[in-house]
Amino acid sequence: VPDPRPTRRRRILERLASAKLDAALVSHLPNIRYLSGFTGSNALLLITQAGATLLTDPRYTTQSAQECDCKAVTCKGALWTAASDHLRRKRIRRVGVEAAKLPHSTWQTFQSSLGRNALGTIDGWTDQLRTIKSPDEIASIRQSVLLNSKAYEKTLRRLRSDWSELRVAAELEYSMRKLGASGPAFETIVAAGRRSALPHAAPTGSRIGTNRILLIDMGASLDGYASDMTRVVHLGPAPDKARRLYDAVLEAQLAAIAAVRPGAACASVDAAARKVLKKKGLDKFFTHSTGHGLGLEIHEGPRIGRKVEDRLEPGMAVTIEPGVYLEQYGGVRIEDTVLVTQTGVEILTPTAKELLVLNP
Ligand code: ZN
Ligand code: ZN
Repeated sequence: VPDPRPTRRRRILERLASAKLDAALVSHLPNIRYLSGFTGSNALLLITQAGATLLTDPRYTTQSAQECDCKAVTCKGALWTAASDHLRRKRIRRVGVEAAKLPHSTWQTFQSSLGRNALGTIDGWTDQLRTIKSPDEIASIRQSVLLNSKAYEKTLRRLRSDWSELRVAAELEYSMRKLGASGPAFETIVAAGRRSALPHAAPTGSRIGTNRILLIDMGASLDGYASDMTRVVHLGPAPDKARRLYDAVLEAQLAAIAAVRPGAACASVDAAARKVLKKKGLDKFFTHSTGHGLGLEIHEGPRIGRKVEDRLEPGMAVTIEPGVYLEQYGGVRIEDTVLVTQTGVEILTPTAKELLVLNP
């Protein structure tokens, strides 16, 4: 397999002329990793027709030489100052930066060091490339998804009603790391009972208990690639209310997955989930988007939401995660990671989706 990085950088270079830019200066670390291979925490990547140069600090001299396929320069002091010195020395006039991801103060200081008309933007250029995953990236996401499901299943077998939500989260994350993940891809959500009605609940010290819903939203990071899954189990026998809620969300989730295919508008996938919940009078309790792309970051393009006209393309990896949240009762969300294929969709998440009743 040829190294994808030079091709990715060429795609950036191809856009410079029409944007009237001489260079691109990438500052968002996942984009730097995508374009150069560098995984450290402090760098800027300058891309010009003459080649690419990574600027980093002395902590990363050895690592940048090992990881990057382009020139790497160790700078003393602030990288943005080093970048403007470098640009002046090379007589590069107009440079595009990721303005939307920069603090305004950084933009201002950088502009005043380079001159009035020196800055343009390359907002979204790399992010857009990243939405379509290469076969290697798909393999990494697949591995991350499988590992995440394994960690979930192993932990669920040992679950106890006297564990706190925090203990459950800790066990899930410990299990991920034992299986080879570098860690969770985001803060693990564990929410029992009414707390499951908070779509983004942080785990607490209270025990998960029994006769209630338990919602777990977890993802692993493996080789830099994220996975993302939500499952709901019922602790103790599930009453009709919980089953009805669960079945409605599952039907909505399956409908949204069935709408995933190349050429489908993201909004149409979102609408497929919403339509099912509307029929059951539950759509007003579905308070977020249906899903999001994932890869080097847990949330990346495309967003599967209302009014999103972007169209799905083969090679996109997205989550499908409708949810219904009843404040006084609890919430249900079911989330899989899926891949848009040439002909339709492949569900990557292997974990079963029938309502699991546990008596821990
Ligand atoms: Zn999730
Ligand atoms: Zn998600």
